[in-house]
Amino acid sequence: MSPVPTNAATELLTAIKDVGTDPARGGYSRHGFDTAELELREWFTAEAGKRGLDVEVDRNGNIWAWWGAPGPDALVTGSHLDSVPGGGAFDGPLGVVSSLAAVDLLQAKGFKPGRPLALMVFAEEEGGRFGVPCLGSRLLTGATPADVALNLKDPSGNTFAEAVKAAGLDPSRIGKDAEALSRIGRFVELHVEQGRGLIDMDAPIGVATSILAHGRWRFRFTGEGNHAGATPMGARRDPMLPASQLILSARWAASSVDGARATVGRLVPTPGGTNVIASSVDVWLDARAPNDGRTRSVVERITAAAKQAARDEGCELTVTEESYGDTVHFDAALREEVVAALGTAPALPTGAGHDAGILAAHVPTAMLFVRNPTGVSHAPEEHAEPDDCEAGVEALAKVLEKLAAE
Ligand SMILES: [Zn+2]
Repeated sequence: MSPVPTNAATELLTAIKDVGTDPARGGYSRHGFDTAELELREWFTAEAGKRGLDVEVDRNGNIWAWWGAPGPDALVTGSHLDSVPGGGAFDGPLGVVSSLAAVDLLQAKGFKPGRPLALMVFAEEEGGRFGVPCLGSRLLTGATPADVALNLKDPSGNTFAEAVKAAGLDPSRIGKDAEALSRIGRFVELHVEQGRGLIDMDAPIGVATSILAHGRWRFRFTGEGNHAGATPMGARRDPMLPASQLILSARWAASSVDGARATVGRLVPTPGGTNVIASSVDVWLDARAPNDGRTRSVVERITAAAKQAARDEGCELTVTEESYGDTVHFDAALREEVVAALGTAPALPTGAGHDAGILAAHVPTAMLFVRNPTGVSHAPEEHAEPDDCEAGVEALAKVLEKLAAE
């Protein structure tokens, strides 16, 4: 009888269910190098050790757990352990626990990799703390320069440099790590689906074709802070007005471009008092579309509307692009190999960004999605049924077995 439990992924997720819970928002708030994420990283390190894997942390805080000697042309799988604020239990951790459970399955059947094989945990994938998504893989690949990353600040004012130092890393060694990257021959990430594609296809597992072009922009409207009661309506320069116009124009602009999405999920007025006209407002725009041109067009329309609204209210506007990634088309040959290993699996695109999307510019990359019966992600309602999680583990094990055989 196999020593591997049939619901291994679910059992591993249960082991971390109390780490980083967020009573105020619901779900989990686990952010890069915060207490919860550091605890999860320790947990992963211990689990990898139990399986005889050799764990190392690279210069940018990404964890590598090697089955056998590290080396070039490795087959690498993994995901992340951090979450958005108030996120679900599966986005990230499902890929990590599935990689551990897949190793269990392969070890139980006596499989020995014929090439270097590693499990990875990427740092700060969601950008929930420092604002830039996929920061660990962006630093590894050089997509985000070290000096930009080190000066990023979390909502408490701590810099990324301070956070990595507190986590035991050397800030002076943060940045593009060609040597570490060169070890990855092919990369496969398993992830809970963040949409309804597999529900509609009535399939537990799917294979990714592409990721929408996507980016984040910060709009700062500056007006004049003043008293909510003593300032006549005609004498105001209230930055909340153009900020609200930006939110409305995001809906309008994205709705008029095929396949586009635009979202304002975060708005911070300063000083943020009920009886105070704000002096400034920061608004973050997340915009995505099937290609670069459409994404840029949506953001240009929103920016034009925001500029006009700022002028109308006598406010200043500065716009900062915080991150951007063009459309990712996953490697077709690798996808065919993955599908062949599974026998059959439907292919589907996704609107969500992933470390696999960052790595895809450098190495052949594939993704497996596990059905999410709620269709909801980045929220506590995100879910995957235990049977589907196990189908994911078995699928990942088949893929690793095939791709790491020689
Ligand atoms: Zn994720």
